[in-house]
Amino acid sequence: MDLSSYIRNVNNFPKPGIVFKDITPLLKDPKAVNQAVAQLYHLTEKKNVDLVVGIESRGFFFGTLLAQKLNCGFVPVRKPNKLPYATVSETYALEYGNDTLEIHKDAIQKGDKVIVHDDVLATGGTALAVCKLVEKLGGEVVQCNFLMELSFLEGRKKLSGHNVQTIIKY
Ligand code: AMP
Repeated sequence: MDLSSYIRNVNNFPKPGIVFKDITPLLKDPKAVNQAVAQLYHLTEKKNVDLVVGIESRGFFFGTLLAQKLNCGFVPVRKPNKLPYATVSETYALEYGNDTLEIHKDAIQKGDKVIVHDDVLATGGTALAVCKLVEKLGGEVVQCNFLMELSFLEGRKKLSGHNVQTIIKY
C-alpha cells in the first residue's frame, strides 16, 4: 500500500508558499491507518520503550496508536496553558519569533526510554525542543519518528545525535 497516496497536498496553507501535508484522508481509511501504525512499529528496532511522546496536535493520532501497539504509555506535549497540571516548558526559535511547548512535570520518570512522534519533520525545531523537554525530565530519547519528512529542510541535521525514522520522504 502506497501511504503517500493518502496524503493531500494543500498549497499555500497556512501561509503563502507552504505546501501543507494533510493527513485527514489517511485518518479516514482504517486500512491505511493500520498500515501506517505497522510501519512505525516496524521502524522501532527495540520494543522495550516506556513512553511515546506525541506533539500537539497531529502527533496525537499516530503517537497514541503506536503506544498501544508497543504496549507503552502515551504523553502529550502541548502548546502553552493547555495542560491542566504543573508543567515544564521549552521555548524555541521559529523563522519569525518564538514558540513554546509544555509537558507535565511528572509525565516522565528518570531513565524512561522515550519515542518522540509527530506527523511531519520539517526544520526539526519542534522535535528538538521536545527532545529537550524529555531530557529535562530525565528521559532518554531512543528514537524520533514521523509519518513524513521534508528532506530539503534538513530536519535530520538539527536532530543529529538522535535516531530519526520516517515513513514517507519528500
Ligand atoms: P518543524 O519544527 O519545522 O520541523 O515543523 C514541524 C511541525 O510543523 C510539526 O508539528 C508539523 O506538524 C508542522 N509542519 C511543518 N511543515 C508542515 C507541512 N508542510 N505540512 C504539515 N505540517 C507541517
